[in-house]
Amino acid sequence: MSDPLLPQASRPDFARANGWDSPYPTFSGASAPAYVGPVTFSQRDLVQEAEALMHRRPDVVIVGAPFDDAVSHRPGARFGPRAIRQAFYNHGEHSLQLDVMPFHELDVVDAGDADIVPAALERGHAMIFRKVLEVASSGAIPIILGGDHSITWPAASAVAQVRAPGSIGIVHFDAHADTADQDWGNLAGHGTPMRRLIESGAVQGRNFVQVGLRGYWPAPDVFEWMRAQGMRWHLMREIEERGAEAVIDDAIAEALDGPESIYLSLDIDVLDPGMAPGTGTPEPGGMLTREILRAVRRIVGRVELAAMDIVEVSPPYDHAEVTAMAAHRAALECISALAVKKRDGHPVRFEGTVVSPLPVEVVEAAEGAKGAEVPEVAEDVAPVSA
Ligand code: MN
Ligand code: MN
Repeated sequence: MSDPLLPQASRPDFARANGWDSPYPTFSGASAPAYVGPVTFSQRDLVQEAEALMHRRPDVVIVGAPFDDAVSHRPGARFGPRAIRQAFYNHGEHSLQLDVMPFHELDVVDAGDADIVPAALERGHAMIFRKVLEVASSGAIPIILGGDHSITWPAASAVAQVRAPGSIGIVHFDAHADTADQDWGNLAGHGTPMRRLIESGAVQGRNFVQVGLRGYWPAPDVFEWMRAQGMRWHLMREIEERGAEAVIDDAIAEALDGPESIYLSLDIDVLDPGMAPGTGTPEPGGMLTREILRAVRRIVGRVELAAMDIVEVSPPYDHAEVTAMAAHRAALECISALAVKKRDGHPVRFEGTVVSPLPVEVVEAAEGAKGAEVPEVAEDVAPVSA
């Protein structure tokens, strides 16, 4: 019978008896194995508050946008940020391709996710805009993990808000142009963000370059609209005929024709579904993973990067994490290319005049108002600023 009142000194010492009191080295954060500890991008520090970001002044900040209210076909991209964050077995010590140690050169932190609830499209976009605005306002380069592609509308708008409207260009990899006027009447669907960005003046059409378009959408009238905006695009057919290298060279030259900095938007469905099956609108006949990783390294190495997003990873349709790993590596290639710049003496952070994060009025949801659209200010909710 055990006696709970037995004095400590006379209890058996299991640590000593079993040899578990030996001295062992301890590991945490980025020194721990990939599968141990809290899930942040490549086990970087979690720094969620705007004030803390302002104080720390990181070079690059990972932001999650776990949002898929705007998909037109298979859902699941809301699970993308978590899947991408943990799709590594080694946190990225040394880039063999670029011969740089990315996290030695750069301070990279994970700012967590935008405040998302389900079935609230407009609210989700508002929260993504605010979160990216906070990050970009700190001068860090945001890398936004989606989420469906509609998140590029608020995310790139926030970056344009900080850097100056019309000053950024976009290099957009995708099977789809995403320049539709509307998806079944919805102006904020994931088939429309690029049109919204141009219409709103956040980005100029002539500074918009698309790569990898293929398949059976959109209709000719949409391409007419794109032409009228001065947009430039490279079909998958052109990559087949000229090779990815030549096409990426042209895309870089076009992207640098005017804008001060580039927002890189990577829809993972630009890859062939055989290499990236975990996505919502897969289109056969796409690019190779190695072509995209090389393209990211070369583009980030050559232009001034304002931000990057990686979208449309839908883990429920993935196999063996292959799509999530491609997305994780795309982010890591971007970080490594930025690390080379910093090592070579070029600034990575944006040190221009930044706007302060908006003092946005946020209405705290009443307890029990589970998943509801944020209500008008009512008696039972208290307005707070965030
Ligand atoms: Mn897209
Ligand atoms: Mn797409």
